[in-house]
Amino acid sequence: ARDSLLTESSGPGATKDGHRIPLLANIGGPRDVEAALANGAEGVGLYRTEFLFLDRSTPPGDDEQEAAYREVLRAFPEGRVVVRTLDAGADKPLAFLPPPGEEPNPALGERGLRLSRVHPEVLRAQLAALARAAEGLPARLEVMAPMVTGVEEAEFFAESCRAAGIDRPGVMIEVPAAALRARDLVTEVEFFSIGTNDLTQYACAADRQIGGLAGFQDPWTPAVLDLVAMTAGPAAEAGKGCGVCGEAAGDPALACVLAGLGVTSLSMSAPSLPLVRAALSRHTLEECRRAAEAARSARTAGQARTAAREMLPALA
Ligand code: PEP
Ligand code: MG
Repeated sequence: ARDSLLTESSGPGATKDGHRIPLLANIGGPRDVEAALANGAEGVGLYRTEFLFLDRSTPPGDDEQEAAYREVLRAFPEGRVVVRTLDAGADKPLAFLPPPGEEPNPALGERGLRLSRVHPEVLRAQLAALARAAEGLPARLEVMAPMVTGVEEAEFFAESCRAAGIDRPGVMIEVPAAALRARDLVTEVEFFSIGTNDLTQYACAADRQIGGLAGFQDPWTPAVLDLVAMTAGPAAEAGKGCGVCGEAAGDPALACVLAGLGVTSLSMSAPSLPLVRAALSRHTLEECRRAAEAARSARTAGQARTAAREMLPALA
């Protein structure tokens, strides 16, 4: 079954009735581009730039950053490339960018955009390198901030991007407060990208790094699906994109549910692309919507998964 799925699965992401859901890749740097292209990625939905900064005692130089970004932008001449600014802290600690104080709960500490505001020169240098990298290239550069909680942070980030000459700023929706008030954040930015890994962690108040709590880290959790719907709705009303770039996007059944909840693009690790593309192509948007409704009507993550799968008969 997997073989036949893989053969039927090429071309741009769309439901059976032709509703487009661009399928993008999550990458950590230029070395992941080949696998993304080989699996038919239409662009990059999450470029995790921290990998460029890991395992070193000083930040990468401006030229080194520019070269790494340019190489990725070059590989997708017709696509979107969504670059996430440095997501340091918590599960991604960086030696040269420590949080300003002791943190008993790093996941609730100075991380992502919060840490960028403590070290604005690092953010400014990164945005400048991104703007230079995109100069003269046809790829559509979009830049988003991780770990955004409220309007004032979104406004700060959008202004920082525009000051650097980047005209498509976005924010990740990873904090329940941001999802609940997506209607307020949406006016500040051009797009949302939901990080379901962190959104699940924070919705369930269960540290994603604690193995004993892995059972809580399930994006089928109906509360998480509700938060996705609350984010996608205001984005659609404002005519702005709302992608998902957490692990959830790579689960074929959940990908259909996310499309049914109003998500407009899905970004995942490259090997997941073919099965997700096939699952979408076998179901209409209406079927995806019914699966989403069934999942949200369930009372547990397990029941949501079962209920959705029953509404998606053509899954492998
Ligand atoms: C997420 O939180 O869902 C996400 C995509 O970002 P990361 O896993 O890098 O925190
Ligand atoms: Mg995250």
